[in-house]
Amino acid sequence: MTRTFGPRRPQAVPAKSREELDDLVRRLKADESRNDCYRERSLKLHGWICAKCGREFDQENLHLLTVHHRDGNHNNNPADGSNWENLCIYCHDDEHSRMQLGDYLRKS
Ligand SMILES: [Zn+2]
Ligand SMILES: [Zn+2]
Repeated sequence: MTRTFGPRRPQAVPAKSREELDDLVRRLKADESRNDCYRERSLKLHGWICAKCGREFDQENLHLLTVHHRDGNHNNNPADGSNWENLCIYCHDDEHSRMQLGDYLRKS
C-alpha cells in the first residue's frame, strides 16, 4: 500500500447536485421577490394615498406613489409595515431633502 506524506491536497468540494443548485436559485429568487414586493405590500397596508399630503392615487398615477423607509434602511421590511410610509414622489423627495438638511444642520 502506498502512502503519500506530501502536503495534503485540499479536499475537493463535492460538486453541488443539480437539485441543490435549483434550490439555491429558488431561494435567491424568493429573496429578490421579497424585496420587490414590499411596495405592493405597503400599498395594500397603507392604501393608495400619500401619508403626507393626502393625495389619492389610482391605476393611472400609482407609479408616482412610492414607499419611504422611515428608518432609511431599505432592508428593514417588517411584515406589519411599520417601517413603511407611502409618499408621493414630491413628498418623498421633500422628506429626504429635509433629512439631509437635518444632518447638515446638526453637523454645523
Ligand atoms: Zn404627497
Ligand atoms: Zn424614502
